[in-house]
Amino acid sequence: MNLTTSASPTESTRVAPQPEARTRPRCAFTVDVEDYYQVDAFSDRISPLDWAHFPSRVVDSTWTILRLLRDHNVRGTFFILGYVAHKHPELVRAIRDDGHEVGCHSYWHRPIHRLTPEEFREDLRQATEAIGEVIGQPVTTFRAPTFSIRGDTLWALELLAEAGYRIDSSIFPVRHDKYGIPDADPLPHVRETAAGAIWEFPPTVYRTSLGNVPIAGGGYFRLLPFAATRWMMSRVHLADRRPLMFYIHPWEVDVDQPRLRGRWKSRFRHYQNLRTTARKLDLLLNTFSFGTMTEVLEASGMGYETTSADSSIAIAAPHMSVGTISPAECL
Ligand SMILES: [Zn+2]
Repeated sequence: MNLTTSASPTESTRVAPQPEARTRPRCAFTVDVEDYYQVDAFSDRISPLDWAHFPSRVVDSTWTILRLLRDHNVRGTFFILGYVAHKHPELVRAIRDDGHEVGCHSYWHRPIHRLTPEEFREDLRQATEAIGEVIGQPVTTFRAPTFSIRGDTLWALELLAEAGYRIDSSIFPVRHDKYGIPDADPLPHVRETAAGAIWEFPPTVYRTSLGNVPIAGGGYFRLLPFAATRWMMSRVHLADRRPLMFYIHPWEVDVDQPRLRGRWKSRFRHYQNLRTTARKLDLLLNTFSFGTMTEVLEASGMGYETTSADSSIAIAAPHMSVGTISPAECL
């Protein structure tokens, strides 16, 4: 974090967020940093080999979010695509210098269920190196493209732990055509793997008798009226005292992005209500106490601790639900 101090009270300064001056954050603010043409919705028409032909807008659209967070004195966790770190290292350094947590969102944005374990391990290695070289420290938080750790890809958690990752946010406890484990624990919890333990911090869902409703990010945030999002998040926040996890993408605040051809469902999911997203974000940031994923886990009292020596996280015995993976599910 860049802390700017001033000897003169008349000198214009921007004072970065300071932990002691902030409320204990209850909601993790997370951003998946990718360009508008790298999303899974259009991956049936646009392969990574085509990416160089599209005008990149990820720097400007990410800055829209960075400025909003500055205005609200909020830090968050940014999951960076390795490809973006390679092409735009100055953006990643700006994110780091604003005090945000830098995580990994894979290198090529391929859903894990389309990869073999070896292909995922190699993609993860490339991304971890690309991001780590830019920020000059280990990367320990991960989110899979399209929340693609599902029942058939739980083996990926072992590879993440093996690569030094301490927190994952890839398991969406919902029923969906592309991702999700509907009966997964919606609370942050520890998963044991053969390579060690890893924390899982799922995106927030609202539990109903008909199943879990995703409420905190992406297309759901754009589709729902803000009052509905606020009501459901408040219910989870106040009634259940659960830590919240919100997610957004830079292209969701980029109203003027080029319109791509694709299936109607993909176009609906990608383009619905782009025009109102930034305003909703502004309202959201005024409503809840946000922080990085690590800060929220630390504040949750669930047994999560960081060491002072580095950015690694010591996993204490948690007084909470602990998910386990059977050996058959691991490599
Ligand atoms: Zn993504």
